[in-house]
Amino acid sequence: LFLVFEGGEGAGKSTQLAQLAERLRAEGRDVVVTREPGATGVGERIRSLVLETSAEDAPSPRAEALLYAADRAHHVATVVRPALVRGAVVISDRYVDSSLAYQGAGRTLPVEEVSWLSSWATGGLKPDLVVLLDVDPRTGLSRVAERNQAADRLEAESLAFHERVRYAFLDLAAADPKRYLVLDAGRPVEEIAERVAGRVADLLAP
Ligand code: C5P
Repeated sequence: LFLVFEGGEGAGKSTQLAQLAERLRAEGRDVVVTREPGATGVGERIRSLVLETSAEDAPSPRAEALLYAADRAHHVATVVRPALVRGAVVISDRYVDSSLAYQGAGRTLPVEEVSWLSSWATGGLKPDLVVLLDVDPRTGLSRVAERNQAADRLEAESLAFHERVRYAFLDLAAADPKRYLVLDAGRPVEEIAERVAGRVADLLAP
């Protein structure tokens, strides 16, 4: 089973992902927790190229899209597919939708081209469920700023950028409701965790 958490900045993906992994492990399941970008050695180097470069050295939008696609291709080939083949539950923090939202809608590259690039990179591997933690960028960005994580890099993007990202995620979910669980990231952590666990239990039921 392949599960993905998506959402804008400060949506609480990591917290929810950790809670779900803990629950599934307590049931004795083989769980692989992973993320994009940066889950592999190659990926870590790509992550620092895309996220730790000064503004003047930042890759151009198409180069950025290719770097995320390269990270994803390597991630799927070396981590996700092998784990799925052995029957593990794979939970990824971000996947293809992040590229459609950030590189496509955010950077205004044609979304269908980013989609094509992503399916080439992944060999067409799609998640069984995408949990979208929806947050107003104003709220999300202020949460991130409080933690003082990457605040400068994120502030470099306009609020309009983060709003395009948000609505791109919501549009993707609306177009394929069976594959998505959209939750308000402003709800209490425990309530969100219960909703996620319920939906995953349905998927795991024989
Ligand atoms: O989820 P996490 O905070 O690790 O993501 C790191 C950053 O990478 C996010 O702030 C997001 O802006 C960026 N990102 C991106 N395009 C992707 C994936 C992540 O711009 N496809």
